[in-house]
Amino acid sequence: MKIYADHAASTPCDERVVQAMLPYFTENFGNANSQHFVGRDAAKALADARDTVAEILGCKPNEIYFTSGGTEGDNWALKGVALHKKDKGNHVIISSIEHHAILTPAEWLENNGFKVTRLPVDSTGIVSVKSLEDAIDDQTTIVSVMYANNEVGTIQPIKELARVAHLHGALFHTDCVQAIPYMNIDVKELGVDLLTISGHKFYGPKGAGVLYIRNGVKLDKLICGGGQERSQRAGTVNVPAVVGLATALKLSREELDKNNAHICQLRDHFEKRVESEIPYIRQNGNKQHRIPSIANYSFEFVEGEGILMLLDFNGIAVSSGSACSSGSLDPSHVLLAMGVPIEVSHGSIRFSFGKHNTIEEVDYIVDKLKETISRLREMSPLFDLKKGGTYNV
Ligand code: PLP
Repeated sequence: MKIYADHAASTPCDERVVQAMLPYFTENFGNANSQHFVGRDAAKALADARDTVAEILGCKPNEIYFTSGGTEGDNWALKGVALHKKDKGNHVIISSIEHHAILTPAEWLENNGFKVTRLPVDSTGIVSVKSLEDAIDDQTTIVSVMYANNEVGTIQPIKELARVAHLHGALFHTDCVQAIPYMNIDVKELGVDLLTISGHKFYGPKGAGVLYIRNGVKLDKLICGGGQERSQRAGTVNVPAVVGLATALKLSREELDKNNAHICQLRDHFEKRVESEIPYIRQNGNKQHRIPSIANYSFEFVEGEGILMLLDFNGIAVSSGSACSSGSLDPSHVLLAMGVPIEVSHGSIRFSFGKHNTIEEVDYIVDKLKETISRLREMSPLFDLKKGGTYNV
């Protein structure tokens, strides 16, 4: 049996998305900037995709910029605004649980003379509006807080945070990469100035994303070259990927309620069984304010790497944190920010369910997880001590 429960890392491309993309690799292969009929075909596909995405996000087509994915969108928003507005102020605010696509450019800004404030979160991963009110000052040019966290799924009060940013004359960006597959987002209603999404999290292709930039917002370019994307983001546009992203987004809106209901059912079944059948665990995240796909647990007295290896051996693909940092043995910055003790954070696993998973698969995962945890605890000196043993550590 092979089970994929790592949809926060990536999702399989929907077959309908693949079919929509295929002609743009072969018969409609043109460069969307070429001034002939082949180029015009590609330009038409690009314009249609832009219209689709704009309609879904509730903005104008000329506020949509196609990028190479979430990482580029986040980098562009944060660095682009901070650099453009450096004469106004040098203060940038992010949350302490952002994805590395925000954390790393923030560090870069810090190394280049900017001041960065990282807002704390509570034990469930929520950023308080008060903490932003306390941190923001007249030097702040941009505030960036993710909509839903990629490790624990907690959803932030984005509307209220954006309002505070605006009251102080700062722009507001949200990394919406993990939220967009599960939530209807209207950028105007949300009141954000910039918003990032990535195609491969909602059954679209990898290497395709969108940065929404509200008309009137000015930021430096990240990639310079030709005049594509209204001269703001150079490089021949990846038309098949853009068509795929727009198709996937449209499908995800049409099927949102059905998919969310299915995924919620899987997650609830999973959590009910885990919580009643496995002792010494801690659920990480907020049980009310969260996207439906992610269940994150710490299993005390064992190492996450060991759990991952044994589950992998049984054909189960899950993750010990975000895909980009799970190669390292560093504890999760998200869990540490939430106050999870370091030794407990080491035994944490993120399960993230998708539209193709079934209840039978969830049962198989729990069965194997129970075996895995018991086996690892049998070998754990810490668990031995917990049981009153005399293991000499
Ligand atoms: N932001 C968040 C919250 C993510 O989860 C990810 C991907 O895991 C990214 C940004 C980066 O997106 P991409 O893989 O498209 O570069």
